[in-house]
Amino acid sequence: MPLRILIAGALICAAPAAIAQQRQLDAHEHGAGTLDLARFGNIVEFELRAPGADIVGFEHAATSEENKQAVAAAIDLLSAPETILAFPAAAGCEAQEAKAVLVAMGDEHSDEPGRLEHDDHDDHDDHEEAAAGHTEFHARAIYTCSNPEALDRVDLPYFGHFPNARELEVQAVSDKGGFGAEVVRDQPVLQLDGKL
Ligand SMILES: [Zn+2]
Repeated sequence: MPLRILIAGALICAAPAAIAQQRQLDAHEHGAGTLDLARFGNIVEFELRAPGADIVGFEHAATSEENKQAVAAAIDLLSAPETILAFPAAAGCEAQEAKAVLVAMGDEHSDEPGRLEHDDHDDHDDHEEAAAGHTEFHARAIYTCSNPEALDRVDLPYFGHFPNARELEVQAVSDKGGFGAEVVRDQPVLQLDGKL
């Protein structure tokens, strides 16, 4: 890979990280994930953050064999970026790197590190209190796109794979500026219209 692309990749990685850091201050809302998109020249990157409830239906520690298998299957699925989104074929985007992980939120503030039991948790959707005890799946991928001018929309097969996911809050940045959007499961398409 030419050095130029490596440098561009390093620059672009900083943008979603900054957005994500800001968001970490807020507890997540079940059903609502976030998607950060960034483009710099021919390089496009995304980062998805989705509550464990949206992906596997629970956020407690995976202790049973069934839970562990569900988490492993979800990581496998989310590691394939085409599970999450699809760019127009004309844009010629190819994933260069993709990764998915399960993250326990607020661990560092917990009195009992590693203990994530909160069985009453599913009974309410109120996350005003600390984020501790929640989990999120994070997935990211970096693409090179031979024809980024053709990026007029992004389809989100994500919603088809995960029935508990209701919406994605999108933040996008590029050398054209930034914009926000919300994509809901009834209409799983992000219209870019030349904004990215
Ligand atoms: Zn949660």
